[in-house]
Amino acid sequence: MRQCINCLSRLPRKDITDVAWCGLCTPCVRLVEDQMKVLHDQPGGAAVRILRCGWCGVTRSCGVGRRTRCLVCLDDRSVPDPAMEGVARRLELDGTWRECSELIAATTVKIRLAKYARPGWTVLATDVQGLPWKNFRWLTKSHGTWGRDDETGEVRRLRHSRGEETLLYLVRYGKVLKFGRGNADRVGGHVAQGAVPVLVLSAPREQVAVAGDRLRRLHRAELVSHRTPVDLFAVLPGGLDVTDRYQRS
Ligand SMILES: [Zn+2]
Ligand SMILES: [Zn+2]
Repeated sequence: MRQCINCLSRLPRKDITDVAWCGLCTPCVRLVEDQMKVLHDQPGGAAVRILRCGWCGVTRSCGVGRRTRCLVCLDDRSVPDPAMEGVARRLELDGTWRECSELIAATTVKIRLAKYARPGWTVLATDVQGLPWKNFRWLTKSHGTWGRDDETGEVRRLRHSRGEETLLYLVRYGKVLKFGRGNADRVGGHVAQGAVPVLVLSAPREQVAVAGDRLRRLHRAELVSHRTPVDLFAVLPGGLDVTDRYQRS
């Protein structure tokens, strides 16, 4: 027996189809059959397609020959996931369980995309195993994050832009706060994904590393409710406020 991750029906193994790293029953597969439209087919010869959800517009990458669906949208057959509901409570989100779940998924995708921001490239799509149903950090399969060279139009798989992590930042995605450490590309990536910079502090890399660890211990997650007081100066008293550099023009 296998369980459909969307409606939780338990069915014989042969009646479950693999879709987007998970298993779905036939009625659930049918519901989303026409959901995704191909934007880029096998860019640069890679065995990958980049698709866009016709329901919400979010993109994703997927291996050629595999079935997929949106990273964000649930549907009329979806059943609430207790873990997602727990995250929604912690973030003090308003709305139905489905709205909350989709908001968490959409924010998770944006944060993933922000990690790949770099000058001269447009980040196109990513793939996060577990979404839209589960948001587990230990699930790591992915068809990669893909971007387009703004000059040549070439589409290819991107690598994390790490760089020197000399910034400790707090940004706001709607009603959700996200803190973290990174370089200028990372903060710029969040802004490009629609986040509003609340506070960005610059300091030597070692100090930022320690401050970031302290924040994570204090709040236990990098995504917190907008009502949570996240005090960057308390953990990085010597930080230089450079927020102005990241305001959207
Ligand atoms: Zn189902
Ligand atoms: Zn969608």
